Amino acid sequence: MRKNILFLVVFILSFIPSIALSAPTDIINDSKQMDALIPKVKATLVKEFGIFVAISVDYHLLEGSEMDKIMNDATYKGAEIGLHRFINGRHEIYLMKGMSEDEFCATLAHELTHAWQVERCVRSQDMIVREGFAKWIEYKYLDLIGAYALANRMKEIADPVYGVGFKKMLDLEDKVGAKEMTNKIKTVVTINDIK
Ligand SMILES: [Zn+2]
Repeated sequence: MRKNILFLVVFILSFIPSIALSAPTDIINDSKQMDALIPKVKATLVKEFGIFVAISVDYHLLEGSEMDKIMNDATYKGAEIGLHRFINGRHEIYLMKGMSEDEFCATLAHELTHAWQVERCVRSQDMIVREGFAKWIEYKYLDLIGAYALANRMKEIADPVYGVGFKKMLDLEDKVGAKEMTNKIKTVVTINDIK
């Protein structure tokens, strides 16, 4: 009996190193991983969507609780996995630890789109347009890298800001084509301006 228990313990322990080795490697948890992905996402945004951010960006990789502390908008507190702020003439981008590489890159593309909006879009542009377009970029990014399941899940967002804005962008894409979207959106103030 005792021998059997000992055998069981040895048996379990022998699996631990292989479990550790087979853990997913594409979970983004440290800034070295983040720094390696930033140039790739920036280059894709320029090449595919004509979205170039000219002003310096500081990137921060944070725990969910730290994200909550810097969130001003109570409506989305606890739900944010990325955040952009423009402070003292610099962009600050905050991303939550623990995302898969695909989700991380698409979220970064979303936040860099907000940085571009500050630089290139009409000042009075409302939140539904800003979030809708950033969501559309996120969606197109996921589609581009073949993360189709994540991309399709975005179509189920029912939120009055993110969901409504995103659907309006899909409608606009149908009318003007993907290539025209970045240019079109610069001067749009509210979603009612999208005919
Ligand atoms: Zn956003």
